[in-house]
Amino acid sequence: MSLPLKDLRRLFIADLSETGVDNPDLDVDLILSHFMGVSRSWIHCHGEFPFEGATLDLMKEAVFRRKGREPLHYILGSCPFWGKTLSVRSGTLIPRPETEFLVEVALNYFDGGTFVDWGTGSGCITCAILSDRPDASCIAVDSEASAIEVAYGNLRREGFLNRCLLWHGSTPESIPVASGTVDLIVSNPPYIPSEDVPSLMPEVARYEPRSALDGGRDGLDPYRMLLPWAKRTLRPGGLLWVEFGGADQVRPLEEMAPSGMSLLEVRNDLSGIPRLMGWR
Ligand code: GLN
Repeated sequence: MSLPLKDLRRLFIADLSETGVDNPDLDVDLILSHFMGVSRSWIHCHGEFPFEGATLDLMKEAVFRRKGREPLHYILGSCPFWGKTLSVRSGTLIPRPETEFLVEVALNYFDGGTFVDWGTGSGCITCAILSDRPDASCIAVDSEASAIEVAYGNLRREGFLNRCLLWHGSTPESIPVASGTVDLIVSNPPYIPSEDVPSLMPEVARYEPRSALDGGRDGLDPYRMLLPWAKRTLRPGGLLWVEFGGADQVRPLEEMAPSGMSLLEVRNDLSGIPRLMGWR
């Protein structure tokens, strides 16, 4: 028996709306378009399409998982980032728009050379920079084996394995790179204060890896490791760009920078929250 697509869509949206999901219409559209292999606009133009595919069970399962507040991108297994479709699964943070902003700002200062991506997760920052800077090469580092696996898959699919060393390690000291040689260090480390993690939205608190979110008591532990190492590792004139959690962290981060590193800029995100900081 077939059902017009618009009715199926309406049923799924009603089902998801009961659970407090932020944008049920959008999520249902993305589930439908993923499993039907069509664009979102196709769905909006073909409401009378008589749906009777074998994919119905897969869609129902996806909606069911989303009702349990599992992030949409874990359910779909992929996430858009910098014009690419990257694989994501539990064990790696889902790339955020703020992190595309980190890429954009870092690229303004980076023409090519060597960079380090500390806490690469899915490899999103590394893939973006390598695709826009064909002469760049990098070391992408993560402390979690599950992230290294996902990043490896993304780098392989994008054709970047020949320009990237993936390094599994939890302290920057372990990274095999000589002092004073790196042109750019970028990082989106975990920066949420430990006690705030449980009250993040359920998608994040219940499903995303704590290791990618929890930055210790004040959220700044990773920067305490990163900044002194960055100072030693950057070449003269090299740059460090990091993402961080907001206004409360600006002053402590400024004060944490070792002498000899000069602050370039603090950039606000779309919501007006201070989000990126760069040093030379
Ligand atoms: N931006 C993420 C969030 O708010 C946190 C990412 C991070 O700690 N680096 O969920």
